[in-house]
Amino acid sequence: MRGYTFYQRASRAFQDYPSLSKLVVVFTVSSGGLVAFSDAKPFRGAYADAVQCDRKKKKVVSPRNYFAFTPLLPSVTIGTVEARSVVEPIRNIVRKYHGLHHCRVSMFPRLQSASEKDFDVQFREAECLRIDAKNKKVYCQSNQESNLGGKEEFTVDYDYLVIAMGARSNTFNTPGVVENCHFLKEVEDAQRIRRTVIDCFERASLPSVSEEEKKKILHFVVVGGGPTGVEFAAELHDFVVEDLAKLYPAVKDHVKITLLEAGDHILNMFDKRITAFAEEKFQRDGISVKTGSMVIKVTDKEISTKERKTGETLSVPYGMVVWSTGIGTRPVIMEFMKQIGQGNAQKESTELNIEGFKSALSEVDSQMKNLPATAQVAAQQGAYLANCFNRMDECEKHPEGPMRIRGSGHHRFRPFRYKHLGQFAPLGGEQAAAQLPGDWVSIGHSTQWLWYSVYASKLVSWRTRMLVISDWGKRFIFGRDSSRI
Ligand SMILES: Cc1cc2nc3c(=O)[nH]c(=O)nc-3n(C[C@H](O)[C@H](O)[C@H](O)COP(=O)(O)OP(=O)(O)OC[C@H]3O[C@@H](n4cnc5c(N)ncnc54)[C@H](O)[C@@H]3O)c2cc1C
Repeated sequence: MRGYTFYQRASRAFQDYPSLSKLVVVFTVSSGGLVAFSDAKPFRGAYADAVQCDRKKKKVVSPRNYFAFTPLLPSVTIGTVEARSVVEPIRNIVRKYHGLHHCRVSMFPRLQSASEKDFDVQFREAECLRIDAKNKKVYCQSNQESNLGGKEEFTVDYDYLVIAMGARSNTFNTPGVVENCHFLKEVEDAQRIRRTVIDCFERASLPSVSEEEKKKILHFVVVGGGPTGVEFAAELHDFVVEDLAKLYPAVKDHVKITLLEAGDHILNMFDKRITAFAEEKFQRDGISVKTGSMVIKVTDKEISTKERKTGETLSVPYGMVVWSTGIGTRPVIMEFMKQIGQGNAQKESTELNIEGFKSALSEVDSQMKNLPATAQVAAQQGAYLANCFNRMDECEKHPEGPMRIRGSGHHRFRPFRYKHLGQFAPLGGEQAAAQLPGDWVSIGHSTQWLWYSVYASKLVSWRTRMLVISDWGKRFIFGRDSSRI
């Protein structure tokens, strides 16, 4: 009986505080999922931060009712990790957060004289279509069909708005990309890729398929030699070599993986040693890396490239293309930036008057804030913002930011400072590369274990952490699951 009680208590502790070592706050406001990881902060410490906060109302609007841990999406594409293991329902996070009865961060702090139990975080599964900055309104459309047919539209008023919609995949308007390529941005993308890879192997195994056709079907093209493209190519190679080659012995020799990169090298944001190691490793593994190769068109059968050195145009048939060439701003954000006068900052900065000079300065400032589009940056920005909201009253009275260029006095808050903790590039075959602060580079099997521990620790809850670790364990013991579900 005593044992059972202990079990109940332990289970409750995990359910109520999914992250005992970490406070996770998701504020996906009228838009995307900005996740504030209050990293490695003891729970009590986080509570202490929170108590000064007023009871404020937060509204979270996002078209997906879950938070996805994107760094593990390449592993989802081939079943190293299951999709459900890398997502945490927003309502789960909100419920636990709500249950704590203390407010740390407010998105829409319409101050209320309500009692403590009225404190609320509301979540709406909807997409933000437009922001009206002048009237402080966000126009949203629900994902769900309404009883009257069509999708319900509603507006959300705000006092403070945090936009965290993330970015969209950039196609550079290349013809045929949207229609024929896979992207790797969302969980659904990763699931679609997983099914398509298996489909290609099953299709190539049909008796009526010619040798030529098999080669085409099993030609996997990855466009973009950045961290996502490289990691996906490496994961796909592992899947083929470690699992599919045993299951589809008749077609295994027809498999080809090509990585196309318009620049001179893959992983060009990493140290040269890592780039060189990755290129050599891919060559040894038989992954064809074509640098200086710019994709100009994709049809349903062929992908066409322009070779920088020779200027010639080449077309190759393919079975599946994954497009991973970087990200662009979402249209709704571009429209919002125009509204608040940030859409044409470059134009303003050329004017030779004092306003022009000021705007040039602000442009320099914004360029300095041009940080890499990584989860590491987003998480730190989330934590910074949470801290600003929590200390708003205090900083109103005692501003701690730099002197204002326009107007007098100081800014309320210190500016955001990004602390770079390093970056990883998994390269397949249980090897990874890491570039750590201080120009420290580590490559090999031990780095892969470092990657496992860092990513496991960064997962947002104990539930997802345990699921992911068990998926890794299952994969080591049984291999990856090739069922097409
Ligand atoms: C495959 C992959 C691997 C990655 N690996 C790493 C890595 O290893 N390390 C790293 O640091 N970074 C990595 N990143 C980058 C990282 O995912 C992003 O930098 C980070 O997720 C950005 O966080 P965010 O909250 O700004 O946006 P996101 O995480 O993109 O969240 C945006 C949210 O906004 C929602 N949304 C979109 N449009 C609307 C709308 N109109 N209205 C309302 N909501 C909307 C979306 O559904 C989503 O929930 C990876 C990204 C990908 C795609």
